[in-house]
Amino acid sequence: MRNTISQYLGNMDKPVRAEFEQRLYQGQVDLQGVRRCDQIATTFPPRIITWSITSACNFKCRYCFAYYPPHGPAEELHACNRYNVNHIVKCFDHFVANGLLEITGGEPFLARQFIPLCQALTERYHISIRSNFSTDNLRAFADAVDPAYVKMIHASLHIEEREKIRNGMTRFIDNVNYFQDKGFRIRVEFLLHPTLFNRVGLDIEHLRGHGVKNIGLKVFRGYYQARAYPKSYSPQQKEYITHYGNNVDEVTILRGGTNFLGMRCLAGTRNFVMDAAGNITRCRTSEMLYGNLFQGTFRFDHYAKPCPYLNCTCPYQGLRGTFGEKVETSMLLNQFFVEIPSFIKSKMKTRKVIRYLRKRYAPTPG
Ligand code: SF4
Ligand code: SF4
Repeated sequence: MRNTISQYLGNMDKPVRAEFEQRLYQGQVDLQGVRRCDQIATTFPPRIITWSITSACNFKCRYCFAYYPPHGPAEELHACNRYNVNHIVKCFDHFVANGLLEITGGEPFLARQFIPLCQALTERYHISIRSNFSTDNLRAFADAVDPAYVKMIHASLHIEEREKIRNGMTRFIDNVNYFQDKGFRIRVEFLLHPTLFNRVGLDIEHLRGHGVKNIGLKVFRGYYQARAYPKSYSPQQKEYITHYGNNVDEVTILRGGTNFLGMRCLAGTRNFVMDAAGNITRCRTSEMLYGNLFQGTFRFDHYAKPCPYLNCTCPYQGLRGTFGEKVETSMLLNQFFVEIPSFIKSKMKTRKVIRYLRKRYAPTPG
């Protein structure tokens, strides 16, 4: 994914490519306008929007880093509660025509009218879904939605939570096999929390033995026993992840390659993040609002701006979106000043989350 733009540029005729590259690097390309040029329109990366459709979740993973840990019915005003399916689908028209809609949560299958919504969305766009794959409506989804338009289902295997449910593992495997048989591209993802290394091999063997074909490891990013991960994985653990044959992004994250400060990033032009109510930001790290999709107030950046953050909190977005060399300091400073209010807001949000977590996980007296 790191070379997405280069791959796309590679398909262009040389003169067009040379001119386009030069303008792109100088920040002169109006990415909204590229559709006017047929060749660029067909070769430029599609627009991707990552939509946290709900913050509700039926699991309580100890490592959950959702901003407001869900663990129950969501409090926010969902777009799905407020707007009908037709309105939601129509709004995406301006945004992701020929693009990809990545649906995540919380747990997306808990969102209201989720199946009719996905049915309608896949008539026009490609979607991908990130789910804990535990709800009762999974098979109804598989029966109703055309697998050809579902780019990938990421089925996260939160094994400790799964084992709290009666027959949790068996039900999980049955559902994955059901989706596989229906022709969905589905990948089981095992999050490598440091406490799970002693069992990961056996669990993967168990899944493979029961017909699960595509299994990946996810690197844990966060703190455990006051140690920061993935930095604090032992050398053996790092070796295990590297040699598992995981995807390149996971290995890059494992090696700490998540600082994109000063590199141009497509977040804001081609890639966006949206919350349950339709509010759009450039990426998960940024708090700067680009408007609300369902109220028709969104805007795009007209060229790829440099990343002003020391740490990309969702490195998958950074790995997908950044390209080229670091920009000149003056341009970076400019961008940094523009984002100062967003920076302060994100710090306040982080403090709020830390307070919440302290309260929630405080040891009970006695
Ligand atoms: S399933 Fe995902 S959203 Fe739900 S608690 Fe676990 S990590 Fe958080
Ligand atoms: S934080 Fe990540 S996604 Fe956001 S602008 Fe920087 S590199 Fe891009």
